[in-house]
Amino acid sequence: KREPSNKDGKGNVIVSVRIRPDLGTAEGGKSNEWLFDGQKSLLAYRGREGGDYYYDNVFTPDDGNDRVYASSVKRIVRRVMEGYHGTVFAYGMTGTGKTFTMQGTDPQPGVIPLAIRDIFSYIRETPRREFLLRVSYLEIYNEKIHDLLAASSTNGAAVGINSQEEIKLREDSKRGVYATPLKEEIVQSPTQLLRVIGRGDMARRTGSTQFNARSSRSHAVVQIVIESRDRTGGNSSVQGGKRSAMNPGGVRVSTLSLIDLAGSERAAESKERRTEGAHINKSLLTLGTIISRLSKDKDKSGNTTNAEDRHLPFRDSKLTRLLQPALSGNSLVSILCTVHLSLAASPAGNATETLNTLKFAARAK
Ligand code: ADP
Ligand code: MG
Repeated sequence: KREPSNKDGKGNVIVSVRIRPDLGTAEGGKSNEWLFDGQKSLLAYRGREGGDYYYDNVFTPDDGNDRVYASSVKRIVRRVMEGYHGTVFAYGMTGTGKTFTMQGTDPQPGVIPLAIRDIFSYIRETPRREFLLRVSYLEIYNEKIHDLLAASSTNGAAVGINSQEEIKLREDSKRGVYATPLKEEIVQSPTQLLRVIGRGDMARRTGSTQFNARSSRSHAVVQIVIESRDRTGGNSSVQGGKRSAMNPGGVRVSTLSLIDLAGSERAAESKERRTEGAHINKSLLTLGTIISRLSKDKDKSGNTTNAEDRHLPFRDSKLTRLLQPALSGNSLVSILCTVHLSLAASPAGNATETLNTLKFAARAK
Protein backbone atom coordinates (compact mmCIF):
# COMPACT_ATOMS: atom_id res chain seq x y z
CA LYS A 1 0.00 0.00 0.00
CA ARG A 2 1.46 3.31 -0.96
CA GLU A 3 0.54 6.94 -0.68
CA PRO A 4 -0.62 8.65 -3.83
CA SER A 5 2.26 10.07 -5.82
CA ASN A 6 2.46 13.73 -6.59
CA LYS A 7 0.75 15.07 -9.65
CA ASP A 8 3.35 17.69 -10.47
CA GLY A 9 4.70 15.83 -13.45
CA LYS A 10 7.55 13.97 -11.74
CA GLY A 11 6.09 10.49 -11.84
CA ASN A 12 6.71 8.27 -14.86
CA VAL A 13 3.57 6.23 -14.41
CA ILE A 14 0.14 7.71 -13.78
CA VAL A 15 -2.43 5.22 -12.55
CA SER A 16 -6.09 6.11 -12.53
CA VAL A 17 -9.31 4.31 -11.82
CA ARG A 18 -12.46 5.29 -13.66
CA ILE A 19 -15.84 4.22 -12.37
CA ARG A 20 -18.43 3.74 -15.07
CA PRO A 21 -21.89 5.19 -14.50
CA ASP A 22 -24.92 2.92 -14.42
CA LEU A 23 -26.94 3.19 -17.58
CA GLY A 24 -30.59 2.68 -16.87
CA THR A 25 -31.89 0.70 -13.94
CA ALA A 26 -31.73 -2.84 -15.24
CA GLU A 27 -28.25 -3.30 -13.89
CA GLY A 28 -29.32 -3.14 -10.27
CA GLY A 29 -28.51 -0.94 -7.31
CA LYS A 30 -25.28 0.76 -6.49
CA SER A 31 -22.82 -0.87 -4.19
CA ASN A 32 -22.18 0.96 -0.98
CA GLU A 33 -19.14 -1.12 -0.25
CA TRP A 34 -16.92 1.32 -2.12
CA LEU A 35 -15.62 4.55 -0.66
CA PHE A 36 -13.58 7.46 -2.01
CA ASP A 37 -11.67 10.07 -0.12
CA GLY A 38 -12.01 13.82 -0.67
CA GLN A 39 -9.00 14.09 -2.98
CA LYS A 40 -10.43 11.38 -5.18
CA SER A 41 -7.25 9.37 -4.92
CA LEU A 42 -8.37 6.61 -2.61
CA LEU A 43 -10.72 3.85 -3.47
CA ALA A 44 -11.53 1.49 -0.65
CA TYR A 45 -13.45 -1.72 -0.80
CA ARG A 46 -15.28 -2.75 2.35
CA GLY A 47 -16.38 -6.14 1.14
CA ARG A 48 -15.01 -9.52 2.08
CA GLU A 49 -11.58 -9.02 0.56
CA GLY A 50 -11.51 -5.44 1.77
CA GLY A 51 -8.61 -3.10 1.45
CA ASP A 52 -7.56 0.42 0.59
CA TYR A 53 -6.05 1.20 -2.76
CA TYR A 54 -4.33 4.42 -3.73
CA TYR A 55 -4.19 5.93 -7.18
CA ASP A 56 -3.22 9.18 -8.81
CA ASN A 57 -6.81 9.75 -9.82
CA VAL A 58 -10.14 8.17 -9.12
CA PHE A 59 -12.73 9.31 -11.64
CA THR A 60 -16.33 9.01 -10.55
CA PRO A 61 -19.31 8.46 -12.87
CA ASP A 62 -19.72 12.26 -12.99
CA ASP A 63 -16.34 12.78 -14.63
CA GLY A 64 -16.44 12.98 -18.40
CA ASN A 65 -13.78 12.05 -20.92
CA ASP A 66 -12.45 15.63 -20.96
CA ARG A 67 -11.75 15.45 -17.24
CA VAL A 68 -10.09 12.03 -17.53
CA TYR A 69 -7.95 13.30 -20.39
CA ALA A 70 -6.95 16.54 -18.67
CA SER A 71 -5.85 14.83 -15.45
CA SER A 72 -4.16 11.74 -16.76
CA VAL A 73 -3.18 12.00 -20.40
CA LYS A 74 -2.70 15.62 -21.46
CA ARG A 75 0.73 16.05 -19.94
CA ILE A 76 1.97 12.85 -21.55
CA VAL A 77 0.93 14.12 -24.98
CA ARG A 78 2.86 17.32 -24.37
CA ARG A 79 5.98 15.40 -23.40
CA VAL A 80 5.66 13.16 -26.45
CA MET A 81 5.69 16.32 -28.57
CA GLU A 82 8.93 17.24 -26.78
CA GLY A 83 10.55 13.94 -27.74
CA TYR A 84 9.69 11.36 -25.08
CA HIS A 85 7.77 8.14 -25.64
CA GLY A 86 4.31 8.02 -24.10
CA THR A 87 1.83 5.19 -23.70
CA VAL A 88 -1.78 5.20 -22.57
CA PHE A 89 -3.58 1.96 -21.66
CA ALA A 90 -7.22 1.30 -20.97
CA TYR A 91 -7.39 -1.74 -18.71
CA GLY A 92 -10.48 -3.43 -17.32
CA MET A 93 -13.22 -5.99 -17.73
CA THR A 94 -15.37 -6.02 -20.85
CA GLY A 95 -18.21 -3.55 -20.52
CA THR A 96 -16.50 -1.25 -18.02
CA GLY A 97 -15.75 1.60 -20.46
CA LYS A 98 -12.32 1.02 -22.05
CA THR A 99 -13.48 1.85 -25.56
CA PHE A 100 -15.68 4.67 -24.29
CA THR A 101 -12.61 6.14 -22.59
CA MET A 102 -10.26 5.73 -25.56
CA GLN A 103 -12.58 6.54 -28.45
CA GLY A 104 -15.51 8.27 -26.78
CA THR A 105 -18.56 9.42 -28.68
CA ASP A 106 -19.36 12.43 -30.85
CA PRO A 107 -20.70 14.52 -27.96
CA GLN A 108 -17.96 13.18 -25.67
CA PRO A 109 -14.71 12.54 -27.56
CA GLY A 110 -12.30 10.20 -25.79
CA VAL A 111 -8.57 10.11 -25.17
CA ILE A 112 -7.63 9.42 -28.82
CA PRO A 113 -9.44 12.39 -30.43
CA LEU A 114 -8.47 14.68 -27.53
CA ALA A 115 -4.81 13.70 -27.85
CA ILE A 116 -4.96 14.32 -31.59
CA ARG A 117 -6.41 17.78 -30.99
CA ASP A 118 -3.53 18.61 -28.61
CA ILE A 119 -0.87 17.20 -30.94
CA PHE A 120 -1.95 19.56 -33.69
CA SER A 121 -2.29 22.57 -31.40
CA TYR A 122 1.26 21.91 -30.20
CA ILE A 123 2.43 21.85 -33.82
CA ARG A 124 0.64 25.15 -34.52
CA GLU A 125 2.21 26.72 -31.45
CA THR A 126 5.71 25.52 -32.33
CA PRO A 127 6.53 27.09 -35.69
CA ARG A 128 10.28 26.84 -35.13
CA ARG A 129 10.10 23.08 -35.53
CA GLU A 130 9.01 21.04 -38.49
CA PHE A 131 6.89 17.98 -37.72
CA LEU A 132 6.22 14.75 -39.55
CA LEU A 133 3.44 12.49 -38.26
CA ARG A 134 2.87 8.86 -39.08
CA VAL A 135 0.19 6.58 -37.75
CA SER A 136 -0.22 2.83 -37.58
CA TYR A 137 -3.07 0.79 -36.16
CA LEU A 138 -2.85 -2.90 -35.34
CA GLU A 139 -4.68 -5.53 -33.40
CA ILE A 140 -3.17 -8.36 -31.35
CA TYR A 141 -5.50 -11.32 -31.22
CA ASN A 142 -4.40 -14.71 -29.94
CA GLU A 143 -0.76 -13.59 -30.02
CA LYS A 144 -1.06 -12.73 -33.72
CA ILE A 145 -0.64 -9.21 -35.00
CA HIS A 146 -2.98 -7.87 -37.71
CA ASP A 147 -2.56 -4.58 -39.52
CA LEU A 148 -5.87 -2.73 -39.38
CA LEU A 149 -4.76 -0.16 -41.96
CA ALA A 150 -3.62 -2.66 -44.54
CA ALA A 151 -6.96 -4.41 -44.19
CA SER A 152 -8.89 -1.87 -46.21
CA SER A 153 -8.18 -1.87 -49.91
CA THR A 154 -7.51 1.33 -51.84
CA ASN A 155 -11.02 1.56 -53.25
CA GLY A 156 -12.33 1.71 -49.71
CA ALA A 157 -13.87 -1.74 -49.63
CA ALA A 158 -12.88 -3.56 -46.51
CA VAL A 159 -11.00 -6.82 -46.71
CA GLY A 160 -11.21 -9.22 -43.82
CA ILE A 161 -8.37 -8.96 -41.32
CA ASN A 162 -8.20 -12.71 -41.05
CA SER A 163 -7.26 -13.07 -44.69
CA GLN A 164 -4.13 -10.98 -44.51
CA GLU A 165 -0.58 -11.67 -43.82
CA GLU A 166 0.50 -11.85 -40.22
CA ILE A 167 2.71 -9.07 -38.94
CA LYS A 168 6.04 -10.14 -37.46
CA LEU A 169 8.15 -8.44 -34.84
CA ARG A 170 11.77 -7.91 -35.75
CA GLU A 171 14.67 -6.29 -34.02
CA ASP A 172 17.81 -4.63 -35.26
CA SER A 173 20.36 -2.42 -33.63
CA LYS A 174 19.29 0.67 -35.56
CA ARG A 175 15.51 0.54 -35.26
CA GLY A 176 15.12 -1.52 -32.13
CA VAL A 177 11.95 -3.64 -32.06
CA TYR A 178 9.54 -3.03 -34.94
CA ALA A 179 6.53 -4.65 -36.60
CA THR A 180 6.76 -5.61 -40.26
CA PRO A 181 5.22 -5.27 -42.81
CA LEU A 182 3.20 -2.63 -41.00
CA LYS A 183 1.47 0.17 -42.86
CA GLU A 184 2.26 3.66 -41.59
CA GLU A 185 0.28 6.55 -43.01
CA ILE A 186 1.61 10.08 -43.06
CA VAL A 187 -1.01 12.49 -41.77
CA GLN A 188 -1.16 16.27 -41.87
CA SER A 189 -4.34 17.26 -40.13
CA PRO A 190 -6.50 16.13 -37.20
CA THR A 191 -9.30 15.21 -39.60
CA GLN A 192 -7.00 13.08 -41.69
CA LEU A 193 -5.56 11.33 -38.63
CA LEU A 194 -9.03 10.63 -37.24
CA ARG A 195 -10.15 9.33 -40.61
CA VAL A 196 -7.25 6.86 -40.79
CA ILE A 197 -8.02 5.57 -37.30
CA GLY A 198 -11.71 5.36 -38.20
CA ARG A 199 -10.76 3.19 -41.14
CA GLY A 200 -8.87 0.89 -38.80
CA ASP A 201 -11.91 0.66 -36.52
CA MET A 202 -13.98 -0.26 -39.56
CA ALA A 203 -11.54 -2.99 -40.60
CA ARG A 204 -11.69 -4.35 -37.08
CA ARG A 205 -15.46 -4.61 -37.30
CA THR A 206 -15.75 -6.05 -40.78
CA GLY A 207 -12.87 -8.43 -40.28
CA SER A 208 -14.66 -10.41 -37.66
CA THR A 209 -18.02 -12.10 -37.73
CA GLN A 210 -18.34 -11.77 -33.99
CA PHE A 211 -17.08 -8.27 -33.49
CA ASN A 212 -17.88 -7.93 -29.82
CA ALA A 213 -16.43 -11.27 -28.84
CA ARG A 214 -13.27 -10.63 -30.78
CA SER A 215 -12.82 -7.01 -29.78
CA SER A 216 -13.04 -7.90 -26.11
CA ARG A 217 -10.37 -10.59 -26.61
CA SER A 218 -7.87 -8.48 -28.53
CA HIS A 219 -5.60 -5.52 -27.89
CA ALA A 220 -6.07 -2.54 -30.23
CA VAL A 221 -2.91 -0.48 -30.63
CA VAL A 222 -2.81 2.97 -32.25
CA GLN A 223 0.70 4.36 -32.59
CA ILE A 224 1.43 7.91 -33.65
CA VAL A 225 5.08 8.53 -34.48
CA ILE A 226 6.14 12.16 -34.17
CA GLU A 227 9.30 13.22 -35.88
CA SER A 228 10.48 16.78 -35.62
CA ARG A 229 13.48 18.94 -36.34
CA ASP A 230 14.55 22.51 -35.84
CA ARG A 231 13.71 24.58 -38.92
CA THR A 232 16.68 26.86 -38.34
CA GLY A 233 18.95 23.91 -39.03
CA GLY A 234 20.82 24.15 -35.75
CA ASN A 235 20.85 21.37 -33.19
CA SER A 236 17.87 21.43 -30.93
CA SER A 237 18.65 22.27 -27.37
CA VAL A 238 18.28 19.27 -25.16
CA GLN A 239 16.53 20.40 -22.04
CA GLY A 240 17.24 18.46 -18.90
CA GLY A 241 20.11 16.66 -20.58
CA LYS A 242 18.06 13.64 -21.54
CA ARG A 243 16.17 12.69 -24.64
CA SER A 244 15.39 9.02 -24.72
CA ALA A 245 14.29 9.06 -28.32
CA MET A 246 16.69 11.52 -29.84
CA ASN A 247 18.62 10.92 -33.01
CA PRO A 248 21.77 12.79 -33.96
CA GLY A 249 21.31 15.97 -35.94
CA GLY A 250 18.59 17.53 -33.84
CA VAL A 251 15.90 15.17 -35.06
CA ARG A 252 13.53 13.92 -32.39
CA VAL A 253 11.49 10.79 -32.89
CA SER A 254 8.94 9.76 -30.32
CA THR A 255 5.86 7.58 -30.25
CA LEU A 256 2.50 8.01 -28.62
CA SER A 257 0.88 4.59 -28.15
CA LEU A 258 -2.84 4.49 -27.37
CA ILE A 259 -4.04 1.06 -26.37
CA ASP A 260 -7.47 -0.42 -25.79
CA LEU A 261 -6.50 -3.66 -24.03
CA ALA A 262 -8.34 -6.97 -24.18
CA GLY A 263 -10.90 -7.50 -21.43
CA SER A 264 -9.16 -8.49 -18.21
CA GLU A 265 -11.88 -10.93 -17.12
CA ARG A 266 -11.12 -14.59 -17.05
CA ALA A 267 -12.22 -16.30 -20.22
CA ALA A 268 -15.27 -18.52 -20.37
CA GLU A 269 -14.59 -22.22 -20.16
CA SER A 270 -14.50 -23.30 -23.78
CA LYS A 271 -11.35 -24.77 -25.20
CA GLU A 272 -10.82 -21.96 -27.70
CA ARG A 273 -11.59 -19.33 -25.12
CA ARG A 274 -9.12 -20.91 -22.76
CA THR A 275 -6.25 -20.46 -25.23
CA GLU A 276 -7.25 -16.87 -25.87
CA GLY A 277 -7.61 -16.32 -22.17
CA ALA A 278 -4.18 -17.76 -21.44
CA HIS A 279 -2.63 -15.42 -24.03
CA ILE A 280 -4.47 -12.43 -22.60
CA ASN A 281 -3.61 -13.29 -19.01
CA LYS A 282 0.02 -13.69 -19.92
CA SER A 283 0.25 -10.40 -21.79
CA LEU A 284 -1.59 -8.46 -19.10
CA LEU A 285 0.52 -10.05 -16.37
CA THR A 286 3.75 -9.27 -18.23
CA LEU A 287 2.55 -5.74 -18.82
CA GLY A 288 1.84 -5.33 -15.11
CA THR A 289 5.30 -6.58 -14.20
CA ILE A 290 7.02 -4.24 -16.62
CA ILE A 291 5.03 -1.17 -15.68
CA SER A 292 5.47 -1.73 -11.98
CA ARG A 293 9.22 -1.98 -12.53
CA LEU A 294 9.14 1.16 -14.61
CA SER A 295 7.48 3.10 -11.82
CA LYS A 296 9.72 1.63 -9.14
CA ASP A 297 12.93 2.38 -11.04
CA LYS A 298 11.88 5.99 -11.12
CA ASP A 299 10.89 5.99 -7.48
CA LYS A 300 14.16 5.13 -5.83
CA SER A 301 16.62 7.36 -7.59
CA GLY A 302 14.36 10.06 -8.96
CA ASN A 303 15.89 9.06 -12.24
CA THR A 304 14.98 6.24 -14.53
CA THR A 305 17.39 3.43 -14.99
CA ASN A 306 17.33 1.78 -18.36
CA ALA A 307 14.62 -0.82 -18.06
CA GLU A 308 16.14 -2.82 -20.90
CA ASP A 309 19.16 -3.57 -18.77
CA ARG A 310 17.03 -5.08 -16.07
CA HIS A 311 16.06 -8.20 -18.00
CA LEU A 312 12.40 -7.42 -17.97
CA PRO A 313 10.21 -10.08 -19.59
CA PHE A 314 9.36 -8.04 -22.71
CA ARG A 315 9.59 -11.15 -24.85
CA ASP A 316 6.88 -12.95 -22.93
CA SER A 317 4.09 -11.43 -25.03
CA LYS A 318 3.63 -9.74 -28.41
CA LEU A 319 2.13 -6.72 -26.71
CA THR A 320 5.07 -6.04 -24.41
CA ARG A 321 7.59 -6.89 -27.12
CA LEU A 322 5.96 -4.43 -29.50
CA LEU A 323 5.89 -1.79 -26.78
CA GLN A 324 9.41 -2.46 -25.56
CA PRO A 325 10.86 0.75 -27.05
CA ALA A 326 7.92 2.73 -25.66
CA LEU A 327 8.26 1.22 -22.19
CA SER A 328 12.00 1.60 -21.76
CA GLY A 329 14.08 4.47 -20.49
CA ASN A 330 12.42 7.81 -19.89
CA SER A 331 9.00 6.83 -21.13
CA LEU A 332 5.76 8.03 -19.67
CA VAL A 333 2.83 5.76 -19.03
CA SER A 334 -0.77 6.38 -18.07
CA ILE A 335 -2.98 3.47 -17.11
CA LEU A 336 -6.70 4.07 -17.06
CA CYS A 337 -8.34 1.24 -15.18
CA THR A 338 -12.05 1.07 -15.80
CA VAL A 339 -14.48 -0.53 -13.36
CA HIS A 340 -18.22 -0.86 -13.05
CA LEU A 341 -19.14 -1.07 -9.41
CA SER A 342 -22.67 -2.33 -9.95
CA LEU A 343 -21.19 -5.20 -11.87
CA ALA A 344 -18.88 -5.65 -8.93
CA ALA A 345 -21.76 -5.89 -6.53
CA SER A 346 -23.71 -8.33 -8.64
CA PRO A 347 -24.04 -11.89 -7.42
CA ALA A 348 -22.20 -13.15 -10.50
CA GLY A 349 -18.94 -12.83 -8.61
CA ASN A 350 -17.58 -9.92 -10.58
CA ALA A 351 -16.40 -8.28 -7.39
CA THR A 352 -13.35 -10.51 -7.58
CA GLU A 353 -12.62 -9.43 -11.14
CA THR A 354 -13.05 -5.79 -10.18
CA LEU A 355 -10.70 -6.27 -7.27
CA ASN A 356 -8.23 -7.82 -9.69
CA THR A 357 -8.40 -4.65 -11.79
CA LEU A 358 -7.83 -2.51 -8.71
CA LYS A 359 -4.93 -4.69 -7.62
CA PHE A 360 -3.39 -4.53 -11.08
CA ALA A 361 -3.64 -0.76 -10.90
CA ALA A 362 -2.25 -0.59 -7.38
CA ARG A 363 0.63 -2.84 -8.35
CA ALA A 364 1.49 -0.62 -11.28
CA LYS A 365 1.94 2.31 -8.93
P1 ADP B 1 -15.37 -1.94 -22.90
O1 ADP B 1 -14.68 -1.34 -24.08
O2 ADP B 1 -14.52 -1.88 -21.64
O3 ADP B 1 -15.87 -3.32 -23.15
P2 ADP B 1 -17.37 0.03 -23.46
O4 ADP B 1 -16.51 1.23 -23.61
O5 ADP B 1 -17.85 -0.59 -24.71
O6 ADP B 1 -16.65 -1.07 -22.55
O7 ADP B 1 -18.57 0.42 -22.52
C1 ADP B 1 -19.71 -0.39 -22.34
C2 ADP B 1 -20.96 0.47 -22.43
O8 ADP B 1 -21.00 1.44 -21.39
C3 ADP B 1 -21.04 1.26 -23.71
O9 ADP B 1 -22.39 1.34 -24.10
C4 ADP B 1 -20.53 2.63 -23.33
O10 ADP B 1 -21.03 3.64 -24.17
C5 ADP B 1 -21.01 2.77 -21.89
N1 ADP B 1 -20.09 3.56 -21.05
C6 ADP B 1 -18.92 3.15 -20.57
N2 ADP B 1 -18.33 4.09 -19.80
C7 ADP B 1 -19.15 5.16 -19.84
C8 ADP B 1 -19.11 6.47 -19.24
N3 ADP B 1 -18.09 6.86 -18.47
N4 ADP B 1 -20.14 7.29 -19.49
C9 ADP B 1 -21.19 6.91 -20.26
N5 ADP B 1 -21.29 5.70 -20.83
C10 ADP B 1 -20.29 4.83 -20.63
MG1 MG C 1 -14.24 -2.24 -25.93
